[in-house]
Amino acid sequence: MSDARLPAPNRPDELAFLALGGVGEIGMNLSLYGYRGRWLMIDCGISFADDTLPGVDVIMPDPGFIAERADELAGLVVTHAHEDHIGAIPYLWPRLRCPVYATPFTAAVLRLKLIEAGLEHQVPITEVPMSGKFRIDPFDIELVTLTHSIPEPNAVVLRTPLGTVLHTGDWKFDPDPLVGATSDVATLRRLGDEGVLAMVCDSTNALRPGEGGSEGDVRKSLISIVGNCKNRVVVACFASNVARLESAAAAAVAHDRHAALVGRSLWRIDHAARETGYLKNVPPFLTDEEAAYLPRDKVLLICTGSQGEPRSALARIAEDEHPQIVLEEGDSVIFSSRIIPGNERAIGRLQNRLAGLGVELITEQDHLVHVSGHPAQDELTRMYQMVRPRIAVPVHGETRHLMAQARLAEQCQVPQSIVTRNGEVVRLAPGPASVIGEVPTGRLVVDGTRLLPSGAEALRSRRRRRSPCRAWARRRRTRR
Ligand SMILES: [Zn+2]
Ligand SMILES: [Zn+2]
Repeated sequence: MSDARLPAPNRPDELAFLALGGVGEIGMNLSLYGYRGRWLMIDCGISFADDTLPGVDVIMPDPGFIAERADELAGLVVTHAHEDHIGAIPYLWPRLRCPVYATPFTAAVLRLKLIEAGLEHQVPITEVPMSGKFRIDPFDIELVTLTHSIPEPNAVVLRTPLGTVLHTGDWKFDPDPLVGATSDVATLRRLGDEGVLAMVCDSTNALRPGEGGSEGDVRKSLISIVGNCKNRVVVACFASNVARLESAAAAAVAHDRHAALVGRSLWRIDHAARETGYLKNVPPFLTDEEAAYLPRDKVLLICTGSQGEPRSALARIAEDEHPQIVLEEGDSVIFSSRIIPGNERAIGRLQNRLAGLGVELITEQDHLVHVSGHPAQDELTRMYQMVRPRIAVPVHGETRHLMAQARLAEQCQVPQSIVTRNGEVVRLAPGPASVIGEVPTGRLVVDGTRLLPSGAEALRSRRRRRSPCRAWARRRRTRR
């Protein structure tokens, strides 16, 4: 679309917010702030496709609007290392070519992804410290440490002469996060005293009453559950939850077991975590090959695949197609994760396969084996009470989550809430917040090495769907 058809999306005398992804959906976050003819991007993520896009793995926002004016893009600040915040950088950076700012752990994870994409020498990453202050003209930036389900979750403060914005990123108030500091409430209060124009905030759990729960409680529970397991134990979790990896390792040590990692993404996170000073007290993890030689009651396997992803370690184990690991009657699998909506059927299939092998399933339905990384209503309320913004902009949620947060903000006496959509340009200042225009948006999917608009994928994907039959997979029993 040509500029002539666009409203003025970035008038020099206005502060604007514009999401190209992550609003009205959970995943593929890409936010832009415009001021004085410059744009600052916060996060650049992907979503994983579900059953509705067969053959497609990865979806991301179409960055066309900002790619067309990449010379106006001052930089990309990354809040944390989850795929829905950094996953699109290897695909989209060649069209953006801007400096990238991240804290050490996030930078380490991003570098490993860039190495895989062959971009490690091209993307200029500036490592910034936790609580760091720096300038990306025309914005003065400050990071605020929060807690989440990955090391180093940061909120981003953007200061301009027209006002201060707090972009929370993903967060919760975990009193015992296990990895990293607790949320920096002193700075949040100071910001509130200083005066915050707008808070752009995580809505994932805005429908959930109460508090989200703590990683510290999950650790205690995992240690006790593993104590009751007789044979092999598998803990299936998200690779990036370093606190959870540490807890699984602690449960292994407590019951004289050795912890092993099964799955490539786990090794990638292990590398990034140890390189940046995390997992210090955790002995090196065993490989799946090493674990295969241990007696059944001496091993704890940490696996990827808790969402039923067909090519993950746990799915291959359930299908008896894993070259090293076998599960059988009397073994236990702990699903230390929640069911991401859209994955119910895949997880159901996986759990049925495991149950058919005689494996005991332990899930969050009957045990404390998972807590969410996002704020429930009481945490959101506390955040609003501290920050006291003039405008609430709910993001990181489907429409019902955004509406729920807007209602909550109203109860917290926030004068104005604005529920927006991807592509809408929201003027935050001067004057009351309002939608002043709309820019084109879309979704891209990965087809081999190319990016295609979503919709073109169905035809192509059928052609390249992989055969589920892996007759060559060698069956090998672990030794007792
Ligand atoms: Zn997220
Ligand atoms: Zn996250």
